[in-house]
Amino acid sequence: MTARVCSVKACGVGVYARGWCRRHYARNWRNGHPTAVPVRRVRAPHEDLTGRRFSDLVAESWDQERQRWRCRCDCGGTRLVRGYRLTAGAVRSCGHHHAGRPRTGPDARG
Ligand SMILES: [Zn+2]
Ligand SMILES: [Zn+2]
Repeated sequence: MTARVCSVKACGVGVYARGWCRRHYARNWRNGHPTAVPVRRVRAPHEDLTGRRFSDLVAESWDQERQRWRCRCDCGGTRLVRGYRLTAGAVRSCGHHHAGRPRTGPDARG
């Protein structure tokens, strides 16, 4: 056997070391597995926040069309919020109240 190829299926590149081609060998060296795919460079479309609570909001489902999380508020309302706004704490409710500013006066209603 002279023409050995990388032991990773469907690679087909000549062996560089330890039965792998140069790329897969490097990958194994770096990631502990020849086919481990480094996900660092891939920008995740969104983090899975399903069921997670952010103050008054609980992320219920991902709205693919709008690229936002459909969140259920403690008051019963829903709101679509971008994931990073939730994780950053920028949005904490459906908007039914404004933090630290309880309304008082003749118009205030329970
Ligand atoms: Zn390979
Ligand atoms: Zn609310």
